[in-house]
Amino acid sequence: MSANYNSLADRLAAVRAAIASAAGAAGRAADSVTLVAVTKSHPLATVRAAIALGQRVFGENRVQEAQVKYAALRAEDPHLELHLIGPLQSNKAKDAVALFDVIETLDRRKLAQALAAAMAKQGRRPRCFVQVNTGEEPQKAGIAPGDADAFIAECRELELPVDGLMCIPPQHESPALHFALLREIARRNGLSRLSMGMSGDFAMAIRFGATHVRVGTAIFGERVGE
Ligand SMILES: *Cc1c(COP(=O)(O)O)cnc(C)c1O
Repeated sequence: MSANYNSLADRLAAVRAAIASAAGAAGRAADSVTLVAVTKSHPLATVRAAIALGQRVFGENRVQEAQVKYAALRAEDPHLELHLIGPLQSNKAKDAVALFDVIETLDRRKLAQALAAAMAKQGRRPRCFVQVNTGEEPQKAGIAPGDADAFIAECRELELPVDGLMCIPPQHESPALHFALLREIARRNGLSRLSMGMSGDFAMAIRFGATHVRVGTAIFGERVGE
């Protein structure tokens, strides 16, 4: 496969077209879905190339990797929006609050308290999504579905700006039931944003109401080092 034939520009355009088409099929406007381009493992040059193609919203799963890549970029382009999509340790809450615009992986009390303290101290309030472990997989982060309502209430008491939910469905199951469950938890808690859907299933996630899709491989190719 020549690099040109399957260029970043082509792949990004194809993902955008697929998002617009899935949104259209669901009777939704294309701009009701935000594409979070997941750049983990990819070098700064790749991020710059995506920015040159008009992409402004990015996701990273590690605080430190994001700091290294995005510190300079943020200074150059104030319109970048950076999402944390990987597990966050409480002792990194300060760094995450300082860097990210959206923290998608709020999933336990200790982290909620650390984020609330860091926000109070820094006067910076990144929006938070609560991550729900819809498949109740022991190895996966996220609050259990049965504990979600109480946890969301607790986050609100801490005055965290929670306005959405995020999930990563189990790899070997059809994601539809997980997307539907996430949507239902959001509905009954009055949350308007749903981060769900990755390279393999973002079109289906949009049918189930995703407002944010997190797409890496379909845009940037295989991750470096995998
Ligand atoms: C890596 C990652 C993605 C992107 O996955 P692709 O299959 O490469 O699109 C989405 N969400 C999370 C939480 C991730 O860690």
